[in-house]
Amino acid sequence: MKCGFCGHDMPPGTGKVFVRKTGKTVNFCSRKCEKSMLKLGRNPRKFKWTVASRTERLKRGVGKK
Ligand SMILES: [Zn+2]
Repeated sequence: MKCGFCGHDMPPGTGKVFVRKTGKTVNFCSRKCEKSMLKLGRNPRKFKWTVASRTERLKRGVGKK
């Protein structure tokens, strides 16, 4: 199971499941992720601690040695 915001793996049974109006479910590993997406409407790519931002940086080649 992966967190819908940060993309990190989380053990089944942990975190929180949110059901969207569309009927799709989103898992959140922590309240930080839940709040970031639902309340603040943040883009995961803009946050260093998310998998989305890491892949984004890799694509652009930033941080390569
Ligand atoms: Zn998360």
